[in-house]
Amino acid sequence: MTQLQQARENKITNEMRRTAEYEVVDPEVIRQLIADGFAVLPKNIKHNIDTPRVIGKNLDVKVNVNIGTSKDYSSFEEEIVKAKVAFTYGADAIMILSTWGDLRKMRREIVELSPVPVGSVPIYDAAVRSYRENKKVIDFSEGDFIEMFKEHAEDGIDFMTIHVGVTNDVVKRLKKTERILKIVSRGGSIVSGWMLENKLENPFYSHFDEILSIASEYDITLSLGDGMRPGAFVDGTDDLQLEELFVLGELVKRSRAAGVQVMVEGPGHLPIDQIEMNVRLAKTITDDAPFFVLGPVVTDCAPGYDHIVSAIGGAIASMHGTDFLCYVTPAEHVSLPTAEDVKEGLIVSKIAAQAVNASRKRKRAYQREKKMAIARKEFNWDEQMKLSIDKGEKLKQYREKRPYSEEGCSMCGPFCAIRIVEKYSDGK
Ligand code: SF4
Repeated sequence: MTQLQQARENKITNEMRRTAEYEVVDPEVIRQLIADGFAVLPKNIKHNIDTPRVIGKNLDVKVNVNIGTSKDYSSFEEEIVKAKVAFTYGADAIMILSTWGDLRKMRREIVELSPVPVGSVPIYDAAVRSYRENKKVIDFSEGDFIEMFKEHAEDGIDFMTIHVGVTNDVVKRLKKTERILKIVSRGGSIVSGWMLENKLENPFYSHFDEILSIASEYDITLSLGDGMRPGAFVDGTDDLQLEELFVLGELVKRSRAAGVQVMVEGPGHLPIDQIEMNVRLAKTITDDAPFFVLGPVVTDCAPGYDHIVSAIGGAIASMHGTDFLCYVTPAEHVSLPTAEDVKEGLIVSKIAAQAVNASRKRKRAYQREKKMAIARKEFNWDEQMKLSIDKGEKLKQYREKRPYSEEGCSMCGPFCAIRIVEKYSDGK
């Protein structure tokens, strides 16, 4: 039985208990959220997860890290290093988006290594295999859509993105769109390219019952991909994006009816003033399914800083109900990220999540802020390092670069506000 089916039968699983401990809530809260479909607990029955995570309404905002090879940079070892960096700096989930090398070997190895849920996009495998056989990227069969999904399920993947909302109707609209950047989703472009070439409905959609049956067998959490997400500031919130979202709303209902856990993916690139409306719309149309966003990227004019641009969007989106942030690295839209880029992207996303979690008075995040305030007041630099999201690395660097011999720091020296007020406020 899936976590959802067990939750509906009033059973609190071990995983629910462990995530409840992490969230500092009663396990019954987790069970009820999962039973209602407002939260998901991605865990393939074949994957032993040390630290399972539950994602959804009124819970801590979580952060996902993407790793994966490309044709020009396909070092398996480098991707393992990136995965380890992600685990060290607290990723709540990791997605393997490789498009070169031995995809299956890499997938299995990361699943084996990962203490957190692992996600993937199975359609990449079909496209990569086809390209490597000197065929077109979209030269694969209808059966491959299902075959790849099954293969990833067997390999222990916990959640999978399928671009199932890219239906014939949506693709028809694509032909008329006035968007500047038509599709920026790699999976969305492969699926719609395949549909246009073969003049067929999206097999993920036409065979959705088969997908549900495999997902139910392995307890795969479906992540309904947003193949039509806007990919530029000026393209935010248009008919194409919304038409796909309505399809996703229908698929959420079908997934839940089949006992399959489901979350929904969202934009993309959006102006700041459209974020709240997008989150509320998605939550309303999908009946509060957990919402997973990439970014949102709030300006396209800062290449090299997209991690910061996305963290701004991610913080705003989370304040309005987004549950799961996909990190973005500084290399986004420019090149395949290095391990250092993964680290920077993750830390910045974790900052956005911490800021939102603490302001919502989520227990762990709020306590961390409180401890940090005390550590700052006491000039307890070791404690400040321990509480820092980057494990104190930057703090240490700055302390060493510009040291100060007394209490306080070299910013104000003897005029340290904290020291002055402590000294005089208690009458010394
Ligand atoms: S010296 Fe200034 S910046 Fe440094 S801790 Fe004191 S008040 Fe803060």
